[in-house]
Parts: sequence; structure tokens; C-alpha cells
Amino acid sequence: MPSVIIVHGGAASWNPKFEEKAKQGVHQATKLGWDILVEGGSAIDAVEKAVNYLEDHPLYDAGVGSHLNQNGEVEMDAILVDATNENYGAIAGVKTVQHPISLARRVLEDTSHCFFVGQGADDLARQLGFPHMPNIEFVTDVELMSFRKHKVEESGATGTVGAVALDDHGHLAVATSTGGVRHKMPGRVGDTPIFGAGAYADWMLGGVSSTGIGEQVMRYMLGHYAITQINDTTNAQVAATKTAEFIRTKFDDAQVGLIMVDMNGNLGAMHTTQAMPIGWVDSDGNIHSSMGGGINGLA
Ligand code: ASP
Repeated sequence: MPSVIIVHGGAASWNPKFEEKAKQGVHQATKLGWDILVEGGSAIDAVEKAVNYLEDHPLYDAGVGSHLNQNGEVEMDAILVDATNENYGAIAGVKTVQHPISLARRVLEDTSHCFFVGQGADDLARQLGFPHMPNIEFVTDVELMSFRKHKVEESGATGTVGAVALDDHGHLAVATSTGGVRHKMPGRVGDTPIFGAGAYADWMLGGVSSTGIGEQVMRYMLGHYAITQINDTTNAQVAATKTAEFIRTKFDDAQVGLIMVDMNGNLGAMHTTQAMPIGWVDSDGNIHSSMGGGINGLA
């Protein structure tokens, strides 16, 4: 089974002046994940590494650069899905963890639970040895300016991040990490850490990482919907396109996106927003990135 990986940087209205950087970011994240896969590493390691890179990148709405809530604080959500073991780890509302996706992985691997929230999740991070990162260190100038002016359109930092990978042992993993939507009410949690919404996988069908307005994604369990569109005659791209058609019947202003991998190694992507940076590797091992249109413009 040849390995594959696809990465996204969030479905949104991306300010054109940040497009080049956004493409470079997902390109590099894809490369980091791909380097692990070509050396025979696991899909879980690949998606964690790709997402860690984007969590540290100030342009994206995850880790450093996360959107601020109405109190001017960062509250982050993440989920990591291991399709092979039919299990996942998720966290929501964490404020002091540099790499939320790595905490989600430890929930999956080192606890008997699936989902931790708020102070309990931050406390778990300390117990597991994650260093305390003060909340202010996640706040970028762009986000602070946006918070002060309440002018979302002036900002260029817009994207939740995610990755889906299939390794050469046939193991599939999905990771999604976010700071949520801008100016959210404190305590608000979106789709990202919800299994079936912000991420979903079925070891017989494939895996998906979603992005966009969480309240649209989670009301229709879009990740689950997308994966159940895969069957004997539909690949990941057909399923992604069907999911876009479905969500457009539910919302006139649908603002969502997703990336997918099916168990045959086909990639899929769609977004109903103006843009969604993605990075992926083609069958010759070449890394590509784009700001929209999905894989081969099929989205
Ligand atoms: N889905 C995320 C949320 O609603 C935001 C995003 O993907 O941009 O929290």
C-alpha cells in the first residue's frame, strides 16, 4: 500500500496578501509528514508532525495565531483519530498547551478516555509533562488588532489546520486542530474535537478532517456524512464533492471545507468558501500546494 498525505489550512475568506505564505505553510507541513511516511513511519506520527508545524505557524488558527474569544483569550480544540484501532483522543477549551494535537494524541494513547475539556484538559497536560505556555504567548499582533477593532476582514490569519494520512502498513490517521471562530463566546466549542464532525475515520472506508463554521459542520456531522459517501464506486473526491452538494442544500451561505483519503489511497478535497489552502503528495511523490479548487481543481 503506497503512503499518502493531505493537509489543509482552513476553509475561509483568505486575504490575498497572505496566500503565498499560506501555500508555503501547508507545503512545508505536507513535506514534514511525507518525510515520516517515506521512511516507513506511521500515519499517526505523520499527521501529528504536520499539524504541530501549523500550530506553531502564526498564520493559522491553531496554537500560536489562534483566534481570540470575547475575553481576548485563546481557547483551543483538537482531535486525533486512529482509524486502525477505531479510537480517538480529543480536547477542548485548552489555554496553555503549545501543541493541542499532541495532547489529543496522549489522551488517545495514555488514558482510558476519549475527550477532556477546559481546566481538566490543561491539568492533564501538566500531569503528562507538557510545559505550561502562558495564554498571551499564543496571541499574535494580527489577532490582537482584529480583537480590538472587531474587524475580522482586516486579518489574514484564518485557518483551522488538519491532516489525513495513510501509511504503507495500511494504517490511517486524522488530525484537526483549531482556535475556533473569531470572537466566539468563552466556552464555545465548535466541530473540530467532535468525532464525526471535525474529524472522522472508518478503517474500511477512509478518513476526513473538516473545517469551516463549526455550527454548520456539527449540526450535520459532516465528517461522518462524507465518509459514508465512499462506496465501491465512489472515491474520496466523489465523496467530497457529494458532501459539498449536500451542505449547500442546508445553508445558502455554506462555509465549510474538508480533506479526505479513502482506503485505496485516493485523495479528496472540497470547500464552499473562497479558499482553503491544501498540500498533498501525488502518486509520483511530488508535493503540491494550492489555495483552492482542491485536488486537480475537482473540489
Ligand atoms: N471549524 C472551526 C470551528 O468552528 C473553525 C474553522 O475551521 O475555521 O471551531
